[in-house]
Amino acid sequence: MLTQLIHTKNLNDSEILALLERANAFLHQEATPPNLTHKRIVALFFENSTRTIASFQMAASRLGAYFSVFNVQKSSASKGETLLDTLHNLEAMGLDLLITRHHHSSSAIYFAKHLNCAFINAGSGTLAHPTQALLDLLTLYNHFKGALEGKTIAIVGDIKNSRVANSNMELLPRFGMRVILVAPPHFLPPTSLPTTHSLQEALEVADVVMGLRTQTERHCLQTYGSLKDYAKDFCLRGALLGKRQIPILHPGPVHRNIDIEDALLDDPRCQVLEQVKLGVFLRMALMESMLAS
Ligand code: ASP
Repeated sequence: MLTQLIHTKNLNDSEILALLERANAFLHQEATPPNLTHKRIVALFFENSTRTIASFQMAASRLGAYFSVFNVQKSSASKGETLLDTLHNLEAMGLDLLITRHHHSSSAIYFAKHLNCAFINAGSGTLAHPTQALLDLLTLYNHFKGALEGKTIAIVGDIKNSRVANSNMELLPRFGMRVILVAPPHFLPPTSLPTTHSLQEALEVADVVMGLRTQTERHCLQTYGSLKDYAKDFCLRGALLGKRQIPILHPGPVHRNIDIEDALLDDPRCQVLEQVKLGVFLRMALMESMLAS
């Protein structure tokens, strides 16, 4: 049984497929969620979050578990308590699962190493965001009715600084998907995957496109004139996509008209809210697999 999810590599392919199937069973009400009223889950987020934290909370409530969001700003961290002491104190209160988000890439590895309870990384710097990649996979799995082999996804934007891109670059090829990275040179990491600076060229071969937010909070230098400058070449627009019926994904938050133009966000091809919806069921399946015994 998985007890620590730092990155998608912690799960093998059959465990992942089982999670997708279980999430779908919850989605279609073909399975009754377990009753986890005796389980205590705490979310410890040092970075802001809208979807991820709410999604974990919704998922926990559907499982009947106690869920508490620990308020870092109001905690003794501001009085000089070390991170490790904060963790050990929370754990001493009888915690079953800790979910964390932190701006340092190695934070999740550090937390996992020092905890005895179950652990989920909900975003660590640029390293990984495993539950986002798993819900992206579920969205694609459902959209293509399981036939992911040979499908090409174009991931567009600030790939170098995106933990979502990092996790998807690890996960999606395991299920037969081809990944093309589309970005200006300063947003591309060193990689063996195919890359291009031309969004149009990538869209010609893509079966799916995933936009990313420019991670300005992680930039130490401003490497482009402005977000509008970047958008001229990399914003997903209807005019570029034409009539191609390909799903559009984005982990959110979306920079409107920078990552994706307004009209496309309202287009039936846009799967952003479907991703959010499926995320709840995916997280239910994941927490069940870690906590139900
Ligand atoms: N919400 C995602 C994350 O936490 C994507 C983003 O913030 O751009 O990584």
